[in-house]
Amino acid sequence: MYRFCPFYFTFDTVAIPVITFQIESPLVQPYSWVLQELGRWAGFRASVVEEGGEVVVAEWGMADIQVSHFFRNHYVHGDFAHEVIFSKEPLHYCANGKPDYLSTCFYMLACLQEYSDFVPDRFGRFPYAGSWQERFECVAENWVARYFSLILESVPLLQEKVGLPQRRSRVLLTHDIDTLRGAYTEQRKGLLKKMRIGTLLQLMWQHYFSQSDYSRLDKILAIEDEHDARSVFFWLTEQGRSRSGIEHADYGIEEPLVRQQLDLIRSRGWENGLHKSAKRSTYAEEWEALQGHFGVFANRNHYLRLQIPNTFRQMETAGVQLDASLGFAEISGFRAGYGSAFQPFDAKTQKPFDFIEVPLLIMDTTFRYYRKQDASAAGKHIIEILDNNKANATFSILWHNNYFFDRLEPGWLQVYKDVLVWMREHQVTSVLPSQLVDA
Ligand SMILES: [Zn+2]
Repeated sequence: MYRFCPFYFTFDTVAIPVITFQIESPLVQPYSWVLQELGRWAGFRASVVEEGGEVVVAEWGMADIQVSHFFRNHYVHGDFAHEVIFSKEPLHYCANGKPDYLSTCFYMLACLQEYSDFVPDRFGRFPYAGSWQERFECVAENWVARYFSLILESVPLLQEKVGLPQRRSRVLLTHDIDTLRGAYTEQRKGLLKKMRIGTLLQLMWQHYFSQSDYSRLDKILAIEDEHDARSVFFWLTEQGRSRSGIEHADYGIEEPLVRQQLDLIRSRGWENGLHKSAKRSTYAEEWEALQGHFGVFANRNHYLRLQIPNTFRQMETAGVQLDASLGFAEISGFRAGYGSAFQPFDAKTQKPFDFIEVPLLIMDTTFRYYRKQDASAAGKHIIEILDNNKANATFSILWHNNYFFDRLEPGWLQVYKDVLVWMREHQVTSVLPSQLVDA
């Protein structure tokens, strides 16, 4: 049966309407879960009953929400390739030509394409290339929210009792701390090339005798504070290279410098979380290494390494409460076709996981390394993406600490500040893991 999860209730309203659904399909668990997520998004609680439900979900044409028997067959047989589910657009249709929004939302949100065969990239990740998002060139679109709206509009009872949500979006601002000491080593070549010897010497001095730019996290707090924003810092507990060649922290989590930063962040009202390494250590071991510096167990995986559903299972076992790893490194947009926080689903066990996932929409390195854009082009692109996500969304933005202290390209700091200004102008507020989990 569907387990009820505390973070389901994410609304400020006191009385949440309860809507009963009757599911006439063998896919009771998948559809129950999608309806719970629809309810989370729209502001109602979906209660699934065996008979007499107010809204009937079934495969016949007269059902309030019609679902496709083709979809059921594909699902039951584990046929998850998007070429099979979507033909000309990212939407599945019933045999009578009606769009099947519910199954489409389930397919996207449960990341079913990732259960199908794919060639991982060199870091073992699910690649954007070959995804349905690439096939239809639509990765930045919040499809699930769009289809949720269409479900609400097509069922008179839902229209009458719930209506479309009208909320400003919320942003989980995040900083992955991969380096605290790289300011000199990462920038010396570029500074030398540009003959900026004064800056070079300054960074060298800092590197050997003082505090490196990258470790001045207090400056990040000050910038965010000026814009009434708060964020979460994700910390690596591992150093050195993994088997796949991924580099880890250039700091030790036990160092006094790091402990000071952790304390500062927490005492000022910001939050810390785990940046899970690509090494073999478990989530629980790494979490333990952080030694109670944190309230909520929030996590993001280094390099966004995330294998569905195995990684989610490991997170759940360790007690992760919020994860923010779901995104494509190589492009901005929604890996699950959805721009709001949700409880992921395990299509093998047919159960939702016991934690909340906040999709990653925007990451600095996507623009700089994968798209080869400069700061000003990236800034324009980012504002465009944000303009399309002003309402009814909750997503995360990742800005690494080194992007705040780039002496060669200070434009990256400006882009982040522009994001904070945009948020304020559009009444889009920052939200912290503890607020999302405790809601
Ligand atoms: Zn990282």
